Amino acid sequence: TGSRKYTGIVEDCCCEYETVDALNKEVLHPILQELVTTPFFRYFRVKLWCDCPFWPDDGMCHLRDCSVFDNPWTYDDETDNAEMTYVNLQLNPERYTGYAGPSARRIWEAIYAENCPKDPSGEFCQEKRVLYKLISGLHSSISIHIASDYLLDEANNLWGENLELFYDRVLRHPERVRNLYFTFLFVLRAVTKAADYLEQAEYNTGNMEEDLKTQSLVRQLVYNPQLQIACPLPFDEAKLWQGESGPELKQQIQRQFRNISALMDCVGCEKCRLWGKLQVLGLGTALKILFSVDNDNLINQQLQLHRNEVIALANLLNRLSESVKFVHEKGPYAERIMEK
Ligand code: FAD
Repeated sequence: TGSRKYTGIVEDCCCEYETVDALNKEVLHPILQELVTTPFFRYFRVKLWCDCPFWPDDGMCHLRDCSVFDNPWTYDDETDNAEMTYVNLQLNPERYTGYAGPSARRIWEAIYAENCPKDPSGEFCQEKRVLYKLISGLHSSISIHIASDYLLDEANNLWGENLELFYDRVLRHPERVRNLYFTFLFVLRAVTKAADYLEQAEYNTGNMEEDLKTQSLVRQLVYNPQLQIACPLPFDEAKLWQGESGPELKQQIQRQFRNISALMDCVGCEKCRLWGKLQVLGLGTALKILFSVDNDNLINQQLQLHRNEVIALANLLNRLSESVKFVHEKGPYAERIMEK
């Protein structure tokens, strides 16, 4: 199109915006869209009760579009924990729910203010900047899903795109777009770093035909030749934690990330909580893959991922991929009409 707004290398990453858009559109997005519909990846195990350690007054919300459609719900017989349920993600798309106002705002505020504090000089060190950018990128992606599937006319139950909201919450702030691309590449790097592990993992649901398809899609994703040529190292985690204070910093950021995870129990809307928990678990899994082992030989280092972590990681990558595609395809048009 000749007039791209985002060009060059995605900040702190190793690939160009143009490359990411092309790879996503032609290769990653189609594979991920199919992968997340397979029986293994479409069920997420989650505790949906609001169990907020920070604001005890924050209860379940009863907004019309907010509840999780629970068919089928299955009890988890592995852990025998009656509070855990399996949710079919395909029946509960992430979209506009009407969850807003002080409850939603204080969660985002707590995430940014308490967990991504700037140091006294007002600057982030590189590692803290990574955590901030991951959260901001995820926030952009959530806003994009709200904008791309919005309740336009309540009386007629008409759903569609809200480009004004897309512009106001994301496009108008170029750093939010950049953080989205950064988060996408970060999670993509985790998936490719864990390629051997993911390729050998069990995708057993009892449906052999579907499980073989799942395995084949995972292989297409993690050993993708086009990805290996165009963007072999989407993010270079080896650059982090190098300084003297590296180990201490790592612990501090782990603590902050745990606080962010705990805050998800305070999200006062069931469907938002489902996707909030899934995506934060996906980010946690990406951080675990990238920072708990030193080199690419993950199998020898005994990387252990729970089934739910693998599911969260793939679904998070798919959500980010949808958001990147939306920005690429709808961003220029939305900017044109909003900036008229
Ligand atoms: P918010 O999105 O609440 O943002 C609050 C403030 O954060 C902004 O004023 C701005 O200063 C800052 N900010 C915004 N975006 C970024 C960014 N990308 N990077 C850095 N800073 C930023 N609502 C739904 O309808 N559906 C959902 O599925 C859904 N899921 C949610 C999941 C979680 C975990 C949370 C906390 C909320 C969720 N919400 C969901 C609510 C939604 O995110 C908004 O909070 C709500 O729509 C109100 O939006 P807002 O315009 O007040 O700004």
